[in-house]
Amino acid sequence: MTKPVRHIMGLSGGKDSTALAVLLHKEIPEMEYFFCDTGKELQETYDYLEKIKARLGIKIKYLSPEKGFDHWLEVYDGYLPSPRSRWCTKQLKIIPLEKFIGDDEAVSYVGIRADENRDGYVSTKPNLKPVYPFKERGMLKADIIRLLEDHGLGLPDYYQWRSRSGCFFCFFQRKYEWVMLHEKHPDLFAEAVRYEQEHKDGRKYTWTDGETLLELLERKQEILESHERSIQRETQKAPNKPLSEVLSGVLDEEDDTLPCLMCHL
Ligand code: SF4
Repeated sequence: MTKPVRHIMGLSGGKDSTALAVLLHKEIPEMEYFFCDTGKELQETYDYLEKIKARLGIKIKYLSPEKGFDHWLEVYDGYLPSPRSRWCTKQLKIIPLEKFIGDDEAVSYVGIRADENRDGYVSTKPNLKPVYPFKERGMLKADIIRLLEDHGLGLPDYYQWRSRSGCFFCFFQRKYEWVMLHEKHPDLFAEAVRYEQEHKDGRKYTWTDGETLLELLERKQEILESHERSIQRETQKAPNKPLSEVLSGVLDEEDDTLPCLMCHL
């Protein structure tokens, strides 16, 4: 007997994937929701996932890699992951996801909006078919925010200072977000600094281009002031824009590199 096609959706703890769950949880009751848990996420992300479960009445399967980040860091000879070498995504997210799907035929629902020009993680596995409901329905950022508000979810708490979900040390963070990580979670910032410093043979790797986190922190005031100026400029242009949107617009201006799509949706 052929197995039924599975319907799967990855939640990252970010707004777009959450809004997609809001949109489809009644339409596709057999949907299997999953969260790729690197073990290096912010507590705010776990809290938001709990809120999603409670509000939508859904279950979320946490997919953890067999071996964690520290193991893989050793395997990769101490090289911190970077946009050019995203071994973290492969080892901590893609492989656990491919194990979860196995050889089953599955439709994967991806929360990329109609106003975005990017592709989600598209598995090379032929049994996994990605679909993009927001794109198909022409849904834009404002529609996504409205969906979240209408369902009492709002945005995750970290949106006040960071616009992307993912590991606390993610190298896709912008300078302002690093400064705010130090403000909000000094222990996690210190852990990220340790990862930069602990190389047995004295090699030097940094999470952010061109400077260590401690050097970046010395420029804290300058980074905060420049961010504040950008926020003011943006607010003057669109006084009614919600602060979270102003923040993400300003951060995208600083660095619009397309981040890890397995992690930041
Ligand atoms: S969130 Fe960033 S650090 Fe974490 S797995 Fe994704 S790309 Fe890597």
